[in-house]
Amino acid sequence: MVIKPKVRGFICTNAHPVGCAASVKEQIEYVKSQGDLGEGPKNVLVLGCSTGYGLASRIVSTFGYGANTLGVCFEKPPSERKTATAGWYNTAAFHQQAKQAGIYAQTINGDAFSNEIKQQVIDTLKADMGKVDLIIYSLASPRRTDPETGEVYKSTLKPVGQDYKTKTYDTDKDLIHEVELEAASEEEIANTIKVMGGEDWELWLNALAEADLLADNCKTTAYTYIGKELTWPIYGQATIGKAKEDLDRAASEIIKQHSDKNVVAYVSSLKALVTQASSAIPVMPLYISLIYKVMKQEGTHEGCIEQISGLFQQKLLVDSPETDEANRLRMDGKETNEATQAVIKGLWDQVTQENFHQLSDYAGYHHEFLKLFGFDIDGVDYEQDVDPLVEW
Ligand code: NAD
Repeated sequence: MVIKPKVRGFICTNAHPVGCAASVKEQIEYVKSQGDLGEGPKNVLVLGCSTGYGLASRIVSTFGYGANTLGVCFEKPPSERKTATAGWYNTAAFHQQAKQAGIYAQTINGDAFSNEIKQQVIDTLKADMGKVDLIIYSLASPRRTDPETGEVYKSTLKPVGQDYKTKTYDTDKDLIHEVELEAASEEEIANTIKVMGGEDWELWLNALAEADLLADNCKTTAYTYIGKELTWPIYGQATIGKAKEDLDRAASEIIKQHSDKNVVAYVSSLKALVTQASSAIPVMPLYISLIYKVMKQEGTHEGCIEQISGLFQQKLLVDSPETDEANRLRMDGKETNEATQAVIKGLWDQVTQENFHQLSDYAGYHHEFLKLFGFDIDGVDYEQDVDPLVEW
């Protein structure tokens, strides 16, 4: 089949296997180009391993430190008529490269919030890997089924306290327009915390501890975005921000609960980047196209792989790393510093439909968005017939 992007709103509903493989390979090459990264984790569990920050974490673990990895993701397999999701093809490409390098990798595709998948992970670890010394929690999901009650919770992306009117960018229609976002109800806030907060992270650690699969001095981190004034009304101080605050609570709880193993738990704050999760958040596509412009001009632009490689080397794997007031690891300084934010704010105030392509890195945003799904990548022949049926 010849595969061309089918963009619908903030998502692309198909993916290109060859393009996804090329993009995974590019990330692997970046990590390899860094040379020997020294001592690192041996057995890593990556929850949300197939795209974005989780995939980058898996690549750094494998190709930076030679670690065995078990990944969990929720991706759609291909059929004769329909391509798989990008995360499926990324995972297949990752497996092929790990195999070539002779490094163990296994992936479980299913709902990480469920007890069944937790049990499958435990069985696989017991059979193949043994105790884990690093657990990456990188799930981004719009809903979660409570494993005990079966109740389905949905997250919302709404401001807290008051309605909020702002500019946003519609990637599909290439249109800047105003959006009015209604303040979330108490129930919507609670539901978002249930989906994207720390409860499931804690459940994972408890399940692994109970199965005696936590190595002594095991480390774990969950990812957050803190941002600044421009994004606070829709992120940091909004429903999703409330869920992210709950990660701070969960990190302290994990440290307390698993002190016998000396488990170290951090929330790591990363920079805003184009991923499937961030494209769905109102305001973020406009904000990201502006910061790409500013950070590229300042020479500080980074993608997922650079952020995670830096996080591992400078913070996560270091003894007693520098943390912020809430014991978080911060990799977002080049985005959130006052000077950079002031430039972005200046652009934000000026940006209109007419000048958007000049003021922002629209082309960069658009390219990165298509690349998430394996499109718009140099060296890939998109006229070529390809087989969508790729397995790992
Ligand atoms: P993403 O959409 O690229 O990745 C999400 C991953 O979660 C995928 O591997 C997907 O398969 C998996 N997943 C989703 N639901 C699942 C389920 N029920 N069971 C198993 N796997 C499931 O997202 P991302 O942007 O890389 O986000 C990862 C984390 O990083 C999130 O916590 C996010 O808030 C955080 N973060 C993102 C940004 C950003 O700008 N993208 C910035 C800072 C922090």
